[in-house]
Amino acid sequence: MTKTVLVLGGGVGGVVASNVLRKTLPKKHRVVLVDRNDSHHFRSSNPLLLVNKRKPEQITRKLERLSRKGIEFIQAEIKHLDPGRRTVETSRGPLDYDYLVVALGAEYHPETVPGMREGSYNPWSFEGAVQLRQKLAAFKRGQIVLFLSSLPFTCPPAPYEIMLLLDEYFRRRGLRGQVDLTLVTPEPTPEPLAGPRVGDSVRRMMEQRVIKLITHARVLSLNFNNGRGSLLLDQGITVPGDLFLGVPSHWGPSVLRDSGLVEEGGWITVDPETLETVDEHVFGIGDAAALKLPVMKVWAPKAGIFAHYQAEVVSRNIACLIAGEKPHYRYTGKGL
Ligand SMILES: Cc1cc2nc3c(=O)[nH]c(=O)nc-3n(C[C@H](O)[C@H](O)[C@H](O)COP(=O)(O)OP(=O)(O)OC[C@H]3O[C@@H](n4cnc5c(N)ncnc54)[C@H](O)[C@@H]3O)c2cc1C
Repeated sequence: MTKTVLVLGGGVGGVVASNVLRKTLPKKHRVVLVDRNDSHHFRSSNPLLLVNKRKPEQITRKLERLSRKGIEFIQAEIKHLDPGRRTVETSRGPLDYDYLVVALGAEYHPETVPGMREGSYNPWSFEGAVQLRQKLAAFKRGQIVLFLSSLPFTCPPAPYEIMLLLDEYFRRRGLRGQVDLTLVTPEPTPEPLAGPRVGDSVRRMMEQRVIKLITHARVLSLNFNNGRGSLLLDQGITVPGDLFLGVPSHWGPSVLRDSGLVEEGGWITVDPETLETVDEHVFGIGDAAALKLPVMKVWAPKAGIFAHYQAEVVSRNIACLIAGEKPHYRYTGKGL
């Protein structure tokens, strides 16, 4: 009998899952991918996009192209999950499934910081990065501030990567002496998961390049007066700036809230080795999942490399289940 595997989200996790499923499942079974957008944007390249080392079209692919491989793509807004009835409600009608892979990523909530939506650009979104690319190209003098609204956020090394790239970008243009760079983060130290040696080393790199680092920061608001902005932190600290790169609070996808699949914080509860949720027909991967790594017992960073390897495990296990075999693939923390 024909089985349908529905993959929600055409980001890194969803695209890898769809590809591996299509390669491992016999042709008679359906692999269906749903995303609200018509294209996949490879956001790991956003930092390079900002400094003009990538063009928008180089990091964008139409999801419809997957149909050449036998993957059905439906562009639709996912509205509601009903695991009990094995149905997903979408703007294009209900979709039934035998197995479901949820790879919906994280949702951004700039409204948690008053003034952020109006006063800053989000380098974490593709659209924000495209706008920033133009702003940065025209920027010749003044203070650039990158701030993180809260933890957790996708790709812990990315803020540091962006600051180092900006340093190089303005040096190359002979403008570095006129451009101040500041990074504001709630983290106690750079990339805390990577340990104190990495943290110290990143701190040194920032100091050598005269990039100001403010840690333990809680951003309260972003305010503008006569065209100049200032970021208000707790304890009355203000950080002035001319261009703000703001990374909004990350929340679990709102469509999952009443699905019975998520923990208190809104992220999907999964078995750390099989990525199975409380429903044996539903798997959660990537940024949307709350996953304690089997190694080190720390929360998995929200990064594409983790989503990729989790997608492989889940897809191969679903293929086993459909073939009537015991699923034996295990996620071991690969990516760390
Ligand atoms: C600046 C930056 C740099 C990064 N650098 C790296 C790096 O160097 N290495 C690395 O490993 N990772 C990196 N990452 C992280 C990586 O991009 C993410 O971890 C990865 O994209 C997560 O994959 P995902 O499939 O879980 O979610 P996503 O890729 O976010 O995909 C989720 C998809 O679900 C869709 N969706 C969500 N809700 C709905 C809905 N209701 N209806 C329809 N569609 C919906 C979205 O449109 C999206 O396409 C970086 C991220 C950023 C922002």
